[in-house]
Amino acid sequence: MSRSPLQQVARALALATAVVLSGLSMAPVADAAAPMVKTQAPGFYRVMLDNVEVTALNDGTIELDADKLLHEPPAKTDAALARSFLKSPVTTSINAFLVNTGSRLMLFDTGTGGHFGPTNGFLLTQLKAAGYAPEQVDDVFITHSHGDHVGGLARDGAAVFPNAVVHAGKADIDSIASKPDSPFAPYAAAKHLQPIESAGEVGPGVRAWPTPGHTPGHVSYVVDCHGQPLIIIGDLIHVAAVQLDDPSVTIEFDSDPKAAEAQRAKVFAQAAKDGAVIAAAHLQFPGLGHLRANGAAWTYLPLNYAR
Ligand SMILES: [Zn+2]
Repeated sequence: MSRSPLQQVARALALATAVVLSGLSMAPVADAAAPMVKTQAPGFYRVMLDNVEVTALNDGTIELDADKLLHEPPAKTDAALARSFLKSPVTTSINAFLVNTGSRLMLFDTGTGGHFGPTNGFLLTQLKAAGYAPEQVDDVFITHSHGDHVGGLARDGAAVFPNAVVHAGKADIDSIASKPDSPFAPYAAAKHLQPIESAGEVGPGVRAWPTPGHTPGHVSYVVDCHGQPLIIIGDLIHVAAVQLDDPSVTIEFDSDPKAAEAQRAKVFAQAAKDGAVIAAAHLQFPGLGHLRANGAAWTYLPLNYAR
């Protein structure tokens, strides 16, 4: 039996509808799977503190064997990490901070320079992604001379920040000055190196606050953001999941653990009292937030997000 043209169109439409409907219900989602990208967004995070622009730059991460490095029984570390849904080794951020006051561009710490494996060494990438060039940096303030803080200062013996004056604790400069590949060397040769020996102004609105303990020349910095202090604390804390709840726990990297513990207590108490924003090298990126006392422990409150 032959169908009329109208019947043929109706049948074709019915078939097409059936195909579409079966496609909707039957097609497995995986048919359209896109490959996973797995890389992060550019690692910078910007915030205005009053009229001072603060940009956290993530140099990358490093795996910390917290259960071996912290000065407490490994089982205690493991239990504390488990309470924060973590385990050893702990993926740990390496943060540096760029502060633009409008008249000066200041960088606090410089990351690893890629000397600590493939998961870090991205400071310059982040600096450029954040809209700046290394030549624009006026001052580099170093918290201490460990490789994850000074590794990005120099490359192949040349200054990475050619127009910057570098400020660092004298004891830490001296501790590596004799090394042939000291990252301070090109700055010293250019007379762009300013050792810090005591507390005081080291730039407009920037005060050095020597906090020896983690290293003999460890320096914290207080930036006055018009009444809202920003304290760059360097390595006063490494493993938040352990050391916020029990600030007496020190780490193998502390050259004088007792002093390191005392400096943490002093700076954290001041930050909490003043309502200061802390900028921490190893709290999870961006490492910017407030501290609130909680008995003998500390609660860390990451800054609220703002576009
Ligand atoms: Zn460090």
